[in-house]
Amino acid sequence: MNIFEKRGKIIRLLILGIVVSYLSIIFMRVNLNLFYIVASIGLILIVTSLILLIKHWRCPKCNHLLDTRKGQNSDLLFCPHCGEKLR
Ligand SMILES: [Zn+2]
Repeated sequence: MNIFEKRGKIIRLLILGIVVSYLSIIFMRVNLNLFYIVASIGLILIVTSLILLIKHWRCPKCNHLLDTRKGQNSDLLFCPHCGEKLR
């Protein structure tokens, strides 16, 4: 699995965390304890995915953190720090 596939999976995890956090609002009026549990799961998913993103979105050769340029990473072919081919 290359870094782009890992990044895609981590971003899907982040989106899931955001959706779960948003859905926890539904439980706020029904059951407050359930709201806290679901909101906590959502926040854990968000924090975990952000940590994984920082840990894995790195050049496999020089280990520098790669740039995130507002979704334009699909054309990121080489590491801007060492020139390693990424795709
Ligand atoms: Zn590099």
